[in-house]
Amino acid sequence: MLPLFSQLPPADYYARRTALFLKYQASLAALAITPMAVWRFSLEQTVHGIVDVLIVLFLLLLSWLATRGLAIRAIAWLASCIYMAGAWYVVYAFGTSTLLWAFPAGVAMHFILPDKEALFANTLLLFGVLLVGVKVDAMTLTIFALTYSLVAIFAWQFSSRLRADNLLLQRFAHLDPLTGVGNRRALDVRVAELIANRDVKCQPSCAMLMVDIDHFKRINDTHGHEVGDGALQKLVGYLHEHCDPQTEIYRFGGEEFCILTAKTLEGAHHLAEVLRQAVERATQAEEHPLTISIGVALLQPGQSASDWFKSADEALYRAKSGGRNCTHIA
Ligand code: GH3
Ligand code: MG
Ligand code: MG
Repeated sequence: MLPLFSQLPPADYYARRTALFLKYQASLAALAITPMAVWRFSLEQTVHGIVDVLIVLFLLLLSWLATRGLAIRAIAWLASCIYMAGAWYVVYAFGTSTLLWAFPAGVAMHFILPDKEALFANTLLLFGVLLVGVKVDAMTLTIFALTYSLVAIFAWQFSSRLRADNLLLQRFAHLDPLTGVGNRRALDVRVAELIANRDVKCQPSCAMLMVDIDHFKRINDTHGHEVGDGALQKLVGYLHEHCDPQTEIYRFGGEEFCILTAKTLEGAHHLAEVLRQAVERATQAEEHPLTISIGVALLQPGQSASDWFKSADEALYRAKSGGRNCTHIA
């Protein structure tokens, strides 16, 4: 498996998603709870009104902190604690009529906590309600415990299945179905990541090898598309065979592949020559021998993704115009 696919979804994906949900939830809570607070004040239930206002303010504050990228997991748990405390408080203060608040609170936690932690938080919420629900009769509490447990289990299953399906879809969306290597989308994501990391950290040098099969159209025209497809798969096999596991292979499009490797320009050029010779050697006795041309470009300081691709492409173009079956460096 490519290193890339173990990194999908990107590391900050859940943090960004959680921050977004916290914002939604804080806005919804403000819309749902603020009228309750106004109503409490109008009934001169000042303490209850203040509690409602504090819940809204805390949730808005947490959502603001989350959008600033601060300790997202801790913020998600703090928000969940506010949901739990809110549900316990209303049941303790008002009894049966407020039991229903526990349901949206429990489901909301699934949007901001990992599945198992959300299930744990739901269990805490349920037991808390059972403990503080002194104003609720035993039959109602029992029905609440059963229905709440079912909702918590369904929410947990729904959430974990959705997450697993999302992961699978993300992988499919980034995979070339014919050759099994990363596709253009995956390449763009990876290159953007490498460029961002280069600016932030002191990364080792990184090189791109743009690989193109020579006169590939002839194989299609002579032997048919199926043989052409097989040749693409075989080529990827040879590339894998001679690349170390840290070197990443992507299909750029058609019969062009892009290889990313953490090497110096000399190291990358050496790898390009190894690959070129290996492909030539492995296929020379076959009915349709393959040769490849390769353009090599090192990621330069301050260089954009498109400039990096462009310089690798220009080196490849020189390799093509220089007679093919050769490597050129940018
Ligand atoms: P050059 O040496 O200049 O690269 O010549 P070439 O024939 O390799 O390049 P050209 O761009 O003229 O043709 C590329 C061919 O690759 C045309 C297209 O039909 C074929 N091709 C692209 N994708 C696939 C694929 O997935 N399967 C098959 N069988 N052929 C493909
Ligand atoms: Mg070609
Ligand atoms: Mg081409």
